[in-house]
Amino acid sequence: MSKIIGIDIGGTNFRIGLTDGRGNVSDFRKQHVKTILKTDDVLKDIADFIEGYADGRKFDGIAVGFPATLNRERTKVLQAPNLKFMEDLPVVEYLRGRLNVPVFAERDVVFTLCYDMRKYEVPVEGITCGIYFGTGVGNAIMINGKPLTGRNGTAGELGHIPVEGSEEICGCGLKGCIENLAGGKYLAKLQRDYCPDTDIGNIFVEHADDDAVREFIAHMAVCVATEVNILDPDNVIIGGGVANMKGFPRDVLHDCVIERVRRPYPAENLRVIYAEDEPEKSVAGAGYYACDRMLRSS
Ligand SMILES: [Zn+2]
Repeated sequence: MSKIIGIDIGGTNFRIGLTDGRGNVSDFRKQHVKTILKTDDVLKDIADFIEGYADGRKFDGIAVGFPATLNRERTKVLQAPNLKFMEDLPVVEYLRGRLNVPVFAERDVVFTLCYDMRKYEVPVEGITCGIYFGTGVGNAIMINGKPLTGRNGTAGELGHIPVEGSEEICGCGLKGCIENLAGGKYLAKLQRDYCPDTDIGNIFVEHADDDAVREFIAHMAVCVATEVNILDPDNVIIGGGVANMKGFPRDVLHDCVIERVRRPYPAENLRVIYAEDEPEKSVAGAGYYACDRMLRSS
């Protein structure tokens, strides 16, 4: 059984754990980025962090997840609004050279989807879409167990489909991306503007029927329905912090999705699975991903 160090690189925290490619994670840690990136040499800081974490323990591979677009070869980060320090660095080459094990880099949502597909026993064959409503809208598409990458590596940027009439400037630099209307950042703005006396955690409990919240859910539905209409997937997994908030009206979202999906199919037999949020899932998913890749290359 392979031992993989799984790392989820975030703008605020790094998550790291030792995982086995079977969903088990040991020695899980969450560490603030400022305590890891201490010099101008980001790659050296990350390698030092991994070496310090391993502390002499043997491991067979490393899988690193980024909230970013990566090149098609999955060797470097192309663009990441919250990880400017990682853009265009040869992360895979450097870590492989320093730590002398196979290194895999991927979008963090791919790891999450790898985990959810195992947990919810989604068959590898066919098309599986993972749509994760967190701060933004994350999306990964698996076709027969392999992530869809596209020509440049940037397939599956569902959060950045344009909405006509929206003037909001997105973190990616474009105007009117849907994640600015369907992500957690916008939900926090709604709470400030429409119901400042409600705790954000209770917004769906207390305001699910308000027009502004309904419109937010409709924008979430546009994301889901758009992907469903294009791909006619075998399974859709919906997760992320927003979809897991207290009182989140899954039935309303489902109705809003079905309203926008082509008839009779895929509307009549659309399979949607809601995935729970778990702090260690991207690290566990990193293990699944790395073991799959090592198996394929062996
Ligand atoms: Zn965007």
